[in-house]
Amino acid sequence: MITTEETFEMRRRGVMLVLSSPSGAGKTSLSRSMLEQDRHITLSISVTTRPMRPGEVHGKDYFFVSHAEFERMVEKGELLEYAKVFDNYYGTPRGFVNETLGGGKDVLFDIDWQGTRQLAASNRPDLVSVFILPPSMAELERRLRIRAQDSDEVVAGRMAKAQAEMSHWPEYDYVIINRNFAATLGQITAILNAERCKRVRQPGLDDFVNSL
Ligand code: 5GP
Repeated sequence: MITTEETFEMRRRGVMLVLSSPSGAGKTSLSRSMLEQDRHITLSISVTTRPMRPGEVHGKDYFFVSHAEFERMVEKGELLEYAKVFDNYYGTPRGFVNETLGGGKDVLFDIDWQGTRQLAASNRPDLVSVFILPPSMAELERRLRIRAQDSDEVVAGRMAKAQAEMSHWPEYDYVIINRNFAATLGQITAILNAERCKRVRQPGLDDFVNSL
């Protein structure tokens, strides 16, 4: 039996929660924990032309596609946003996002500032954007090296580009300095919970109040 609470829960309008940061600022682990602790959020899995890294799984980390397939998706309008990041293309499949939001679930996006800008232009009312800053550049480099999945050359390239990525923090709704994993996770959770309570995201409120 569907309870009143579930009925109204179903009528909630999903949040598009974007997490951006330079590589190595802790965003991937934060996204993973957000997804584990809250069954109402689903990750948007991007398509990319980047080669698969060791340990990555097609359909879980990304949908790894050829340039030709990526171009086809762009031409057919299948991507909600897309951008070139470090010589590779990345994009968000539109269908999955629309279905998930329509079903009253939140969608988490691990995308860069270029993609966030496109979502701000196309989906501003649903968008909540969070930028994660590293505590220092030295710490960022240390985290990139620990990960050890990229060559020295790639790490150096990413460090150089991190500065450029970070210059976009003023375009985000919220900015968090990731000094401590648990504290940062708590802050993102608080942001999401507050945004879910916004009046405009609860279209069932009128009916609910009338039924009291
Ligand atoms: P990586 O290659 O390390 O997985 O990701 C590189 C960068 O691409 C990250 O900053 C990540 O947020 C960004 N990215 C991943 N998927 C997408 C996407 O679908 N769209 C955009 N605009 N950026 C993405």
